Amino acid sequence: MKQSVKLIAGNWKMNGFAADLAEVDALVSELAEEAAACRVALCPPATLVQRMADRARDTLVEIGGQDCSPEAKGAFTGDISAAMLADAGATLVIVGHSERRQGHGETDAVVAAKAQAVFEASLAPIVCVGETLAQREAGQAVEVVRRQVMQSLPVALACQPFAVAYEPVWAIGTGLTPTLQQIEEVHRAVRSAMIERLGLGVMAVPILYGGSVKPDNAADILAVPEVGGALVGGASLKAADFLGIIRAA
Ligand code: PEP
Repeated sequence: MKQSVKLIAGNWKMNGFAADLAEVDALVSELAEEAAACRVALCPPATLVQRMADRARDTLVEIGGQDCSPEAKGAFTGDISAAMLADAGATLVIVGHSERRQGHGETDAVVAAKAQAVFEASLAPIVCVGETLAQREAGQAVEVVRRQVMQSLPVALACQPFAVAYEPVWAIGTGLTPTLQQIEEVHRAVRSAMIERLGLGVMAVPILYGGSVKPDNAADILAVPEVGGALVGGASLKAADFLGIIRAA
């Protein structure tokens, strides 16, 4: 199947100060010199979204949030709405990252409500799914990921721009990755669950792989059938590393 252009998205997590915006400048200026064959996005902490978006305006680099409230506005101290991220210049929002599911008790229902809020703010969600090591070792990876896809994608996303990221929890920040066959097996299961949930309009929706993607393994992972891009944590913090992944796409 012909896939649409790949999306390489960086997740800075809780890293980054004003001084680190120099990495964005370096990324933007390198990408201005070459025709990148993929879409590129960076998701900084909320404190940097506006400043990063200002620097990336009219460039290839899209800016996203790492999370948002399922609510539109109101008395939710400390939370940030999808519309606020849009107002700051974001076009994407990651929802359901395992560090939110595990560290903040977010269920599939919460993730679906956040994805719905992102859609309602006219932004594109990147909805994360992935099994734990115990689930993988128990032979439940495909079943767990299928259930997360079915329950974390609101029906409103049919025919809308969005992405799913398959991120095995045990591969995030560990240097471990599944085999290419395991990645293909889960990505095919994600695609079929997406179709079951939202219909054939999702055939071109990118399914990103995330979990210890580095410049030296990116080409192999990105060549796996049904891998439509990468969600990159640690290796997105430095422009040189991130560019190595972008160039492999
Ligand atoms: C992530 O946090 O989404 C991630 C994939 O991290 P890393 O690339 O560092 O494993």
